[in-house]
Amino acid sequence: MNKDTAVVLFSGGQDSTTCLFWALKTFKKVYALSFSYGQKHVKEVSIAEKIAKDHHVEFHIMDSHFISEVGTSSLTDTTIEMDQEKPKDKYPNTFVPGRNLFFLSIAAVFAAEHDAMHLVTGVSQTDFSGYPDCRDSFIKSLNVTLNLAMDKQFCIDTPLMWLDKVQTWAMADDLGVFDLVKDHTLTCYNGIPGAGCGHCPSCKLRNDALHEYEAIRNKK
Ligand code: ZN
Repeated sequence: MNKDTAVVLFSGGQDSTTCLFWALKTFKKVYALSFSYGQKHVKEVSIAEKIAKDHHVEFHIMDSHFISEVGTSSLTDTTIEMDQEKPKDKYPNTFVPGRNLFFLSIAAVFAAEHDAMHLVTGVSQTDFSGYPDCRDSFIKSLNVTLNLAMDKQFCIDTPLMWLDKVQTWAMADDLGVFDLVKDHTLTCYNGIPGAGCGHCPSCKLRNDALHEYEAIRNKK
């Protein structure tokens, strides 16, 4: 397997866009994979495609609609209102059960076909929602499982695992893509690019951290 080739799980949001540019700096060949899974904010796929094409990254869309057929989440079911806060003692209903398990498994098959050793994902254990499939232990466990399943030596890279959102903004800035991430990515659960709707949990997290980082940046 080619250690200079990576497949980035790319949704066109702040985190995965930062990871895409980290990968472009780190590897010689990069593929970007987006997943269409019935998400309400489906616009993210076209945003991801534009960013990839603008930077000459080979882009592929994986049809993963089965995820919303077998599981329930407010990100895919229009009849469920999204949790605006993290409920006590359970995950927010924006959790899509199995999502990262399926996405990384699909990406690994793609990587095997394209001789890529690295899988890059923007998951973070410090994310407010605490989704179980964003944790380091899950990623390490899946890495072993994928290697055993396909008799390969994949390496799952998680550049954001231990960063908070302010540090993720700093990383985008270090990579020279601060403005691109700020103005052209889509993180908002209501499908509005850039600063977004401003009130969904994803926007709050992104914008609070952005303001905090901009205050640090202006002092430099
Ligand atoms: Zn929003």
